[in-house]
Amino acid sequence: MPLKTDRSKELYRRAIGLLPGGVNSPVRAFRAVGGDPLFIHRAEGAHIWDVDGNAYIDYVGSWGPLILGHRHPRVLEAVQDALARGTSFGAPTDLEVKLAQLILEAVPSLERVRMVNSGTEATMSAIRLARGFTGRDRVIKFEGCYHGHVDGLLVKAGSGAMTFGVPDSAGVPSAYAELTLTLPYNDLDALRRAMKRFGDQIACVILEPVAGNMGVIPPMEGFLEGIREETEKAGSLLIFDEVITGFRVAYGGAQQRFGVLPDLTCLGKIIGGGLPVGAYGGRKEIMEKVAPEGGVYQAGTLSGNPLAMASGIATLELLKAPGTYESLEEKGRRLERALQEAASEAGVPLQVNRVGSMMGAFFTDQPVRDLSGARRCDIELYSRFFWEMLQRGVYFAPSQFEAAFVSTAHGDEELNHTAAALKEGMRALVS
Ligand SMILES: *Cc1c(COP(=O)(O)O)cnc(C)c1O
Repeated sequence: MPLKTDRSKELYRRAIGLLPGGVNSPVRAFRAVGGDPLFIHRAEGAHIWDVDGNAYIDYVGSWGPLILGHRHPRVLEAVQDALARGTSFGAPTDLEVKLAQLILEAVPSLERVRMVNSGTEATMSAIRLARGFTGRDRVIKFEGCYHGHVDGLLVKAGSGAMTFGVPDSAGVPSAYAELTLTLPYNDLDALRRAMKRFGDQIACVILEPVAGNMGVIPPMEGFLEGIREETEKAGSLLIFDEVITGFRVAYGGAQQRFGVLPDLTCLGKIIGGGLPVGAYGGRKEIMEKVAPEGGVYQAGTLSGNPLAMASGIATLELLKAPGTYESLEEKGRRLERALQEAASEAGVPLQVNRVGSMMGAFFTDQPVRDLSGARRCDIELYSRFFWEMLQRGVYFAPSQFEAAFVSTAHGDEELNHTAAALKEGMRALVS
């Protein structure tokens, strides 16, 4: 039966007259799956409720931060304690020191960390720092990796394989885009050729060590190691954008899981436990260049915000408990298996890429290893899948190109309900 969505529709109608596209971030508008967006009223654990009272098992998790599920009591309590002391001081606090310490202990390559307010701020600042540290201007990124809406990273490949980029958004000056070279993900040969030709001009190579913004695409064997080797040879910095993967694919992030250490790391999402946070960090000798120690300027009125710090601290302390990541791995495996079984029973071609508790389901029979592979998938089928699942009380991302996230709050009941809904949903796709 179709969902009752009168209240969502009414709110959307009002929102459209007030906000561009009715939303504060584009993917929320459901353009990728058609139909009107759902307005959410509240959430608890692995469940969310929309304003019409429909309940869903949530695999979006606010796009990654909510690895403990919604409203974890210890996180709420920590935020309430911080709230009782004040919302913002614009001065150092014990909470910043505590969160910084937890992050440095967890993420292998970090010796210093700077808190900011979003993942975008983290990557923007890390790029500025890489340029300041190396005295070089050019940047290499990979197709399909998203690093926030930083001007110089909203860039797509130019006309030839070895040409610098062109803007991927109106409003980005081509002069910025020309400093960014965009290469196919998982293509080490392309990187080697680029470094051979331009290596001495490259300030940094930035990538998601597991791509999570074109669906989920893991690094192929040797890809991260190869980039590490090439950047080291050229004196360029390697930046891992671990805004999704940090504290997601392992407590110490993808760098711990794959054993490859970058020079700089960007964090966000989970380290704020659902409040707005980002961070960037790296080796001491690089981070020393950041103001006030060094000449690379970067600041923030609300950076290190006490509520966000408290939420982050409580989240990391809970994640640190023994067995957390084994359990997330097992839950991830169960969801992957449920997707695969449902698809194969219904005869729907599906590839599931999974790293721990993040995964992407692609409607294709070909392995997906880069953006062009992701683009070959049946997007129309994904849209139908999305609505079939929504009607059965399961909320996956409203876009083929976003990850599904499992949280510690997804238990047997939720996973079993999802598996049953998947069987029906996949069958409905072919009937
Ligand atoms: C979400 C995301 C960002 C941007 O973070 P915001 O907090 O949305 O600015 C950057 N990089 C990656 C890999 C992300 O997934």
